[in-house]
Amino acid sequence: MSILIKNARVVTATDDYVADIFIEGETIKAIGNNLSEKADKKIDASGKLVFPGGIDPHVHLDMPFMGTYSSDNYETGTRAALFGGTTMVIDFILQKQGNSLQAALEEWRGRSDNNCIGDYSFHMAVTDFNENTKKEIQGLIEKEGIVSFKTFMAYKGALMIDDRQMIGLMEEVKKHGGLINVHATNGDMIDYLVAKHRVEGKLSPLYHYLSQPEITEAEASERFVDMSYYTGCPGYIVHLTCEGALNAVRNATRRNQKMFVETCIQYLILDASLYEQNFEGAKWVMSPPLRQKKDQDTLWAGINQGLVQVVATDHCPFKWEQKLMGKDDFSKIPNGHPAIENRMELLYSEGVNKGKITLNKYVEVACTNPAKIFGMFPRKGTIAVGSDADIVIFDPNEKHKLSAKTHHMNVDYSGYEGWEVTGKVKTVLLRGKVAIENNHCKIDKGYGKFIKRNKVSDKI
Ligand SMILES: [Zn+2]
Repeated sequence: MSILIKNARVVTATDDYVADIFIEGETIKAIGNNLSEKADKKIDASGKLVFPGGIDPHVHLDMPFMGTYSSDNYETGTRAALFGGTTMVIDFILQKQGNSLQAALEEWRGRSDNNCIGDYSFHMAVTDFNENTKKEIQGLIEKEGIVSFKTFMAYKGALMIDDRQMIGLMEEVKKHGGLINVHATNGDMIDYLVAKHRVEGKLSPLYHYLSQPEITEAEASERFVDMSYYTGCPGYIVHLTCEGALNAVRNATRRNQKMFVETCIQYLILDASLYEQNFEGAKWVMSPPLRQKKDQDTLWAGINQGLVQVVATDHCPFKWEQKLMGKDDFSKIPNGHPAIENRMELLYSEGVNKGKITLNKYVEVACTNPAKIFGMFPRKGTIAVGSDADIVIFDPNEKHKLSAKTHHMNVDYSGYEGWEVTGKVKTVLLRGKVAIENNHCKIDKGYGKFIKRNKVSDKI
């Protein structure tokens, strides 16, 4: 199968030019003017933007959490991602405390193998670091191509590791060329505040927000950055939301330290006033919670300063019926919100279209940096000869409204109902196949491939 895209305005993290792109098999074979290669299919991209497939490095599909499962499975989640211009996702495996990492990997493979439509990989969450799990790190990096390890500084008793385990894990991961992802919030402080609010009968979603003040994230971020500096292990803070936490990173980098930072689309465009509307606010109960307007300004500035390198989603959808588990107690509301399909269009509309970031920066934070940081560049994350033909053809002018009635995520509400966006994903190619065209998904589950990743460093 070969495809020739004519008159593409090709946008990468660094370039912006008009050319034709010739694709043969799964990869890009040639880029140039007036290409005349014979192709099985021709696409005219005049007037459209053509950028690399989006990579969302923070999603939770079919994940057991708080007594239920996130409502998108690997099929529905990666299909919705493709509709929104995201061709690859990185999902999280959660080790069960007391069990091996290998057991967790097998359990996750049982749900994901042959079920993905889009490409995928895993981060391994280490929730119990001990002499046995220590021995598994090298094999995961070198044999499985799983090079990033997630840690939680919160959720004590289920996911959290203490600082002693963190330091030990960092030393082992550094030795073998991996990277540590962290959920950086102070779990003990949050547990204290949750318990206090419950005793006082303060049980609405607003108290989810008030149980995780900015300081809980700033403190843990700073501690993590210090531990990463001490061990020399590359670090990546997931879903950073606020000014205090970003300033902790800013201070650390003054001593010549590199720290990767991810934020998520919702923290750039939504704020905590949504929690003030009774139980409706449960739609946005996530951890960390939405913050204030001043934090949105900080995050946009952080992107342009190069302190924030990635915009992800933390996609973790729960249907309304599942959210109702916490009707009488905010601490029982499953945490997470749906966004896997909306990230690329919202970031374009609110970021590029409104003049907050450039088009090149858009590609950098949504496509290229995730590939570079997580060991997949230049196979993924750019448009270049030899790269996988993961390509989005995007109409920058088409206006449309986001809605649960039209989205493809397996969830019965939208966090962005009625939101008008400018710019629409029209055609998506995944490894040389047309995945999305005319609002239809043209590939089936099983096409999505597990992508083994290469060793990483903090030099990108
Ligand atoms: Zn997450």
